[in-house]
Amino acid sequence: MKKKLITIFANNTEVSLETQAILTKKLIDKGYTVMGEYSADSELIICIGGDGSFLETVHSCDFPSCPIIGINTGHLGFFQEISPENLNLFIDDYEKGEYSIQHLNTVVATITTVDGRQNRHLGLNEIVIKGRQSYSVHFYISIDSKPIEKFSGDGILVATSAGSTAYNYSLGGSVVDPRLKLLQVTPIAPMNTTAYRSFTSSILLPSELSLGVTPEQRENKIFIINDGIETGYSNVKDIKVETSETAVHLLRFKNYDFWNKVKTKFL
Ligand code: NAP
Ligand code: MN
Repeated sequence: MKKKLITIFANNTEVSLETQAILTKKLIDKGYTVMGEYSADSELIICIGGDGSFLETVHSCDFPSCPIIGINTGHLGFFQEISPENLNLFIDDYEKGEYSIQHLNTVVATITTVDGRQNRHLGLNEIVIKGRQSYSVHFYISIDSKPIEKFSGDGILVATSAGSTAYNYSLGGSVVDPRLKLLQVTPIAPMNTTAYRSFTSSILLPSELSLGVTPEQRENKIFIINDGIETGYSNVKDIKVETSETAVHLLRFKNYDFWNKVKTKFL
């Protein structure tokens, strides 16, 4: 019978490395081949660390099509599901197929520069659009290609539901149940004076609609930050932010409860 290739990534903390060693041995004893890199034959990716390591794994595997499961050795772990004490239970449930798969949708930004070039950045948590450090930005914002406002402030964050509990929440955005497929557009330090008028709360968009962002001054540098990965652009003509076709597939076991995680983390 052919199957059974599992990829394990771990961050560099002592407990993660120890967990990786123990888990690797257990899986090999069960007949799995265990690798430290992702291959098209991997049936599962296991990521040991916190949410930051989970994001890093998703990006380094280029948003893989196989399922991912996280073992939490970091802080709370919104993506991470298993604790290092429960490795045997996890392996049992996995082998018995006692899990469901949670499909998390992602957000994509397409940047078009004045010379016509295009670049895409994908985020599982969010896309942030900002100016150079300490400078305010002025963006013409459209929804579904229709002008809606001129934004002035530090920048704009567009969060997925899964990303709603990260940077979005720190900015006063709402916590969204990941079963809802939407984008949350949250302003970062919006200016709201007689000179400048911007939305001061988050707005929610259904996944069919896109957000357009056109910088007022093309020559100013714009930064796109997808899940904490920053790229600078000059001469940006416009940016389109929308729900991407790509999903991240998380294994979830019977005790998974999003709202319990929210309660434990924030209250
Ligand atoms: P980081 O600056 O080390 O992480 C910031 C915190 O966000 C960490 O505690 C991380 O959890 C947590 N986190 C990440 N994704 C989350 C999610 N979906 N729900 C709840 N918490 C989450 O950077 P990082 O670890 O590489 O993570 C990148 C993320 O940091 C970005 O996507 C952005 O959302 C977030 N961020 C937040 C702020 C802010 O809140 N002011 C500022 C910049 C970036 P772990 O400790 O488990 O890694
Ligand atoms: Mn981190």
